[in-house]
Amino acid sequence: MNFILRFVIILFIFAFIVYVFKMLARLSFRLRGTISDVQKLREQVTGRPVASADMERCSACGAFISSRDAVSISSRNTVRIFCSAECMRAHVAK
Ligand SMILES: [Zn+2]
Repeated sequence: MNFILRFVIILFIFAFIVYVFKMLARLSFRLRGTISDVQKLREQVTGRPVASADMERCSACGAFISSRDAVSISSRNTVRIFCSAECMRAHVAK
């Protein structure tokens, strides 16, 4: 009888631990979602995406654009990157 009681208690403890782990996993998942939401919100507020490895900054207006869409010109030893042809022209006109 005592053995069965002990077994049941161990089972309860095990179930509780599993429950706690599940809660933690769900919490961390939700937290990760919140972080990406905040990043998205920041992008909307500042009007420019959060800088990442493949992002370049426009030399004229400072906006971030993906290196794929960037317009780059090299003069002498420097390479300048622009978000659009308009920005490039505006910078060259200066
Ligand atoms: Zn620009």
